[in-house]
Amino acid sequence: MERRDVVIVGSGPAGAATALGLVARAPALAARSVMLEKARHPRDKTCAGGVIPKAVRLLESLDVSLAVPEARVDHAGVTLPGGRELAVDGDDLCRVIRRRELDALLAWTARDRGVELREEEHVTHVARDGDGVRVDTSRRTYWTPVVVGADGSGSIVRRALVGPSGVTARAVMCDVPVARTSWTGHAGRRYDFDFAPCATGLRGYRWAFPCVIDGAAHANVGVYALPPADGTRLRTELAAMLERVGAAAAAWKAFPIHAHAGRARLAASHALLVGDAAGVDPLMGEGISFALEYGLLAAEAIWRAHETRDWSFHSYVAAVERGPLGRKLRRLDLGSRLFYGPRGRWWFRLAAASRRAQRIGLAWYNGVDDRVPSL
Ligand SMILES: Cc1cc2nc3c(=O)[nH]c(=O)nc-3n(C[C@H](O)[C@H](O)[C@H](O)COP(=O)(O)OP(=O)(O)OC[C@H]3O[C@@H](n4cnc5c(N)ncnc54)[C@H](O)[C@@H]3O)c2cc1C
Repeated sequence: MERRDVVIVGSGPAGAATALGLVARAPALAARSVMLEKARHPRDKTCAGGVIPKAVRLLESLDVSLAVPEARVDHAGVTLPGGRELAVDGDDLCRVIRRRELDALLAWTARDRGVELREEEHVTHVARDGDGVRVDTSRRTYWTPVVVGADGSGSIVRRALVGPSGVTARAVMCDVPVARTSWTGHAGRRYDFDFAPCATGLRGYRWAFPCVIDGAAHANVGVYALPPADGTRLRTELAAMLERVGAAAAAWKAFPIHAHAGRARLAASHALLVGDAAGVDPLMGEGISFALEYGLLAAEAIWRAHETRDWSFHSYVAAVERGPLGRKLRRLDLGSRLFYGPRGRWWFRLAAASRRAQRIGLAWYNGVDDRVPSL
């Protein structure tokens, strides 16, 4: 049995941010930690790859620069449930980055700064063991006083040690070369959000994002939905969005998003959750900025636990719930219930009525302004 001061399960944005935060806070502790990843970077992750300014700022705070190909977004097209269209102009609203490139950059940066990264090592079983946790993998067994569940929506750490909370949303997407569409979004540095299906009961939206794959301009087209949308409905909406951008049917991929709803369970004795494992934005399904923010708070809590020998992680739960991260998630939870609820059309009309409210709401969402919109 191998003893480690911290075992991080998963090396997506949440695991890498936890590791990078540990390096920044407590390099000696980071050197006694390990990050376990079942895949090998660069690996694909089903995700549109929209990185909002808040995520960029969090990465800057970790001294990580996004030296990877990106499609920049400065404009948004929004279709409301009744079909009315809005154009929202901004500046640097989002950068769209392929996840195989983003995640490899983050995981390798954490590794190069001193956290051991063990790839192709699948965590198969997690259980409390004395005053710590036993972690079984496809290669060996670890014992640790702290296990971090950075293992995404289906988190084995959440299921084994923390318990259920939140809601499982679903998203389906595909990538189409722009040359095979009639879509103007890529050239216009625009992303499109289409809420028209809310009028027929979808609790979510369709999207088209510009992106760059192997140097070629592509459209990432997808659908996000909270329950009760089933796979057939998602694929029907995807086909409709592909038609809207003038593309033929394309191979699609689907993946769940564990979203925040109600009171979240974020930690238990010797275990804490970050990123999708903990629960991200239920309104839009944005999770990269949340993964990074959870990771940084977790690193601080892990350092404190090692200093105080208090492994309850009550302070982590309090830091998330009482801080900006928890406040934003609660507002997004409320927003999802209002916009995707029975009076949703009324809330969309209200949001569409004021350009100033739209600008404030977008700046708040993107983390470039701390003013909170009144929902
Ligand atoms: C179709 C779709 C589109 C999306 N678009 C966006 C978007 O545009 N912008 C945005 O911000 N968010 C988007 N999201 C959400 C975003 O992808 C997630 O919120 C984000 O990936 C969460 O990061 P994470 O590190 O918590 O988990 P993940 O990125 O899922 O990483 C988890 C890691 O853990 C590893 N792992 C899992 N289980 C084990 C195990 N047992 N043992 C070892 N390793 C394990 C996995 O291989 C993976 O590397 C989208 C999601 C979907 C499905």
